This record gives sequence, C-alpha cells and structure tokens, in this order.
Amino acid sequence: MARERKTVLPGGTIGVLGGGQLGRMLALAGRAMGYRFATLDPTEDSPLGQVADEQIVAAYHDADAAKRLAAISDVITYEFENVDAAVAGMLTSECYVPQGSELLYTTQHRLREKRAIEAAGVKVAPYREIRSEEELLGAVREFGTPCVLKTATGGYDGKGQWVIRAESEVPEAYDTLAKAKTELVLEKFIRFEKELSVIAARSPRGEIKAFPAAENIHVDNILHLSIVPARAHADVLAEAEKMAVRIAESMEAIGLLAVEMFLTADGELFVNELAPRPHNSGHYTMEACRTSQFEQHVRAICNLPLGPVELLTPVVMANVLGEHVAPLLDWMGEEAGLPEGVAAKVHLYGKHEAKAKRKMGHVNLLTDDVEKAIRWVESSAIWQR
Ligand code: AMP
Repeated sequence: MARERKTVLPGGTIGVLGGGQLGRMLALAGRAMGYRFATLDPTEDSPLGQVADEQIVAAYHDADAAKRLAAISDVITYEFENVDAAVAGMLTSECYVPQGSELLYTTQHRLREKRAIEAAGVKVAPYREIRSEEELLGAVREFGTPCVLKTATGGYDGKGQWVIRAESEVPEAYDTLAKAKTELVLEKFIRFEKELSVIAARSPRGEIKAFPAAENIHVDNILHLSIVPARAHADVLAEAEKMAVRIAESMEAIGLLAVEMFLTADGELFVNELAPRPHNSGHYTMEACRTSQFEQHVRAICNLPLGPVELLTPVVMANVLGEHVAPLLDWMGEEAGLPEGVAAKVHLYGKHEAKAKRKMGHVNLLTDDVEKAIRWVESSAIWQR
C-alpha cells in the first residue's frame, strides 16, 4: 500500500520515525492544523516526544516498535534519512508511507544520488567512483588538486570527507576513508562563490512548489546562516528553483526535497546533495514565508493542496549551537542591541544537554535589510564562539 494516493485529514495521526528537532517543528505545525503525532525514537523525552501525542521509546531497528507505530498512525514519515532499509520496507507494507522507500534508498548513497540528479538533467560536480587506491590516484591526477574524497554513505556535516590537497595524501586519504567500508567517490573541487539551497515539495496529486532559494554560510562545516533573498542574480535564483522542481519531479518525490547547490563566479550551478525531509536551511520559512516548510511537508504527505511559498519579508536564519545557548538566554531578557527594523524569533528544540556544536535552536531575524541582520549576528556576543 506504499504508493497509493490517500488524503489524510486533520484528526488523523502522523507517525514520525525519529524524534529530533525537525520532527518537533513538523509536529508543532501539524498540531496547529489539527493532526495528532506519534514518534519512534530511542531517547526518552526527545524534542518531538515532548510535543507528540504518543512517544514510543525504542531503537529504530526494533521491528515490534515500528509495528506499534504503524498501528497507531494513518500516515508515516521520517525526519532523518538514514532510516534502516529493512525498517522502511516493513513500514511500507504495514502502513501508508506516501514517500515510499525508493527516495530514501537513492539519497542514502552519494553515487546513486548523483546518478538520479543527472537523470533529471541537472549538473553535479564531476565525480569518479573509487574502488582502489590506484583508481584514486588516477582520478586525482585527472581532476587535479584540490579534490574531495567522500564516503558514499554515512557522511554528514562534512564528516566522511577528505580534501586532497596533494597527490602525496592519496594513500592516507584512501586508508582513512576506506575504513568506513562503503564505496568512495572523488569529486572535482568546485571553487564556488556561494552555497545555495532550494526546498521543493511535491504531493501525491503531482503538485510541486519550491521555496525561495536560500544562501547558506557554513562555519566548520555546520550551517551558520541562511540568508533570503540570497544575494545572487535573480536569473540564477530562478534557475536554482527550477532545478529543484525538475529533480523532485524526475524522482517522483513526495513531501519535501532539499537540494543543496554550489554557485560559481560565472553563474554555474552544481547540485551537491539532496535531503528528502525538512532541512535546516528551510527554517527561515517558519515566519518569513506564507507557508512554512513544516506545514508544506504535512500538506504534501497528507495530499492537501500545497500552500503558497512567497517570501513575506527578508530574513536571516542563525543557528544556535550548544556554545551559543547561554549567551542567547542572557540576551533574551532584554534583546539588547537588536537593530531597529529587525525582529528576532527564537526557536529552541528542548534538548537537555547543550553540547558544543550540537544544534539546539535557531533565530529567525525578520528584517528590512539582510545586511543589517548579518552585521548584528557577526557583532553579537551570542555567536562569538
Ligand atoms: P557535503 O557533506 O557534501 O555537504 O559537503 C560539506 C561541505 O564541504 C560543503 O558544504 C562544501 O562547503 C564542501 N564541499 C563538498 N564537496 C565539495 C566540492 N566538490 N567542491 C568544493 N567544496 C566542497
């Protein structure tokens, strides 16, 4: 019953595999619409568990727990992409999972993902599949240095990657990444000017909409800022949005599909990665768009008409990591120094331990001028570490 088309109306229960912040914000949006939420997550009192109607605490690969989730849900979705293939397969046979498991299967593996993007007629950075150290050396010589060696599975936030800066690094880079026991892929280094992302949504009835492109700034490989409108030519942004729609259409995605891209100085766009779920770079939509990414995902998986995606105000989203929580809380009592014309909307995820680099929340700065909001973030005591 995986890909049948069904409309799930408010009152119905949305089961979410994973209990992190993406699930939490999904539930906060969906509950406002009248849906109920159930979650399966290994941790007690997870960010989603705190706001869900039902919380099943068990390992993701626990088949009995997954069956219990299926039994109480009218529709199932997931909030992270490394869902075990066996669990995804079981859920699709037990419950209505409009997203299916194919898109997960594709996006869980960089090589499969790149081939699917190319099949949609969209460019990725030139790449080679690497099966041995000799192949790696050959490909490094072909692309020149620097170039980027990545594991095909399991990498995130820059983990499972090695930027090869000289041929002499090949043996060590190969040995280190080959330990991951997954295929490897070498990519040409793209001297990008900016990183952009576009989040598209597609519903079972085939309706597709893409949110305005975000310009993303990373620090230590973790998203720091999303800036919207992105500071790039309007034609480039329109092209980026079209590419995301083309990929979602070609892959027959259901729900959200986040598309991360590199933009070069001469206006070329290369897709880097996909994520079939709500995305950190789409948090700006929560107050800045007519429909948030979370409401859109609920609408898409429940087969309701998609909501309008227009930007209501320029916005800068700043991530709050563990080290930013204490100074943020200090600041919140007075909001000292916030420039006129900027409103700060703080979102915190209810995580207990503010470990360094852990995503704890974000602030959407609704602004009349993105530069003003960026200057404030860069000078604020909150983000000095
Ligand atoms: P990823 O895990 O693929 O999202 O990569 C993490 C970060 O590494 C990206 O956000 C880029 O800043 C950088 N990166 C990854 N692949 C490339 C590439 N082919 N060329 C240049 N930079 C890259």
